[in-house]
Amino acid sequence: MPLLSLTHEPTCIKTFIIKNTLNFVPLTLPTLQLFEMRIDIITVLPELLRSPFEASIMKRAIDKGLVEVHIHNLRDYTTNKQKSVDDYPFGGGAGMVMTVQPIDACITHLKSEREYDEIIYMSPDGETLNQKMANTMSMYNNIIILCGHYKGVDQRVRDHFITKEISIGDYVLSGGELGALVVSDALIRLIPGVLSDETSALTDSFQDGLLSGPIYTRPADYKGWKVPEVLTSGNFAKIDQWREDKAYEHTKNRRPDLLEE
Ligand code: SAH
Repeated sequence: MPLLSLTHEPTCIKTFIIKNTLNFVPLTLPTLQLFEMRIDIITVLPELLRSPFEASIMKRAIDKGLVEVHIHNLRDYTTNKQKSVDDYPFGGGAGMVMTVQPIDACITHLKSEREYDEIIYMSPDGETLNQKMANTMSMYNNIIILCGHYKGVDQRVRDHFITKEISIGDYVLSGGELGALVVSDALIRLIPGVLSDETSALTDSFQDGLLSGPIYTRPADYKGWKVPEVLTSGNFAKIDQWREDKAYEHTKNRRPDLLEE
């Protein structure tokens, strides 16, 4: 049963702005499409997922009708009396395995209602999430994210339903929920209209192949710690150049691999 069922505008024009990597000139590529992003998250722990969608940018996106998030409790789809969603592994060994039946029932039900661009399984052996993947997926209309638990899901789920497997890093979490939230946040903030200043997502780290450089705000002098003079000079060409130089320098120091890509 959906826990966050939210109304939305039926259509909107989605415009994606791609920043020119070399000289920072924004190009606007209007891609006319019926827009309505819907994220269905399948979980055994719906309570873990609720609050992040009830605050800040993700809440704003939902309130503006730019995205719908539906959280499905896997236990609602089991056919056994105990409402169990896991069982012992064939061949023995530690840990429980999530069974095929409730996942099949949930995904089959969702697929009968609409087409999905991807059916994602959060998994440490999946493709590691990066900004490029987030950019691509932010153009999708419908995605399902399946959160694993225990030892993970029966392999047949991955073989027969899953179209994409995503890891959020080389470490193991107890469940896919935190990963699903990371993926959702990374996608939702890219939807045009979600951030108040649309270009701000484009000046974030990774969008132009560089990390963000240092940023400052008022006061210009705090206990004698002054902000770089160029930033208060009012010379915007110089400021842009300074920012570009700093971003490059910072990337060279921290992530030289990004400059090689
Ligand atoms: N036995 C598995 C780990 C299971 S952890 C293995 O060794 O690969 C339980 C669940 O947490 C997984 O099914 C997955 O959905 C989620 N999970 C754990 N680590 C993750 C990661 N780095 N990225 C995305 N999901 C992860």
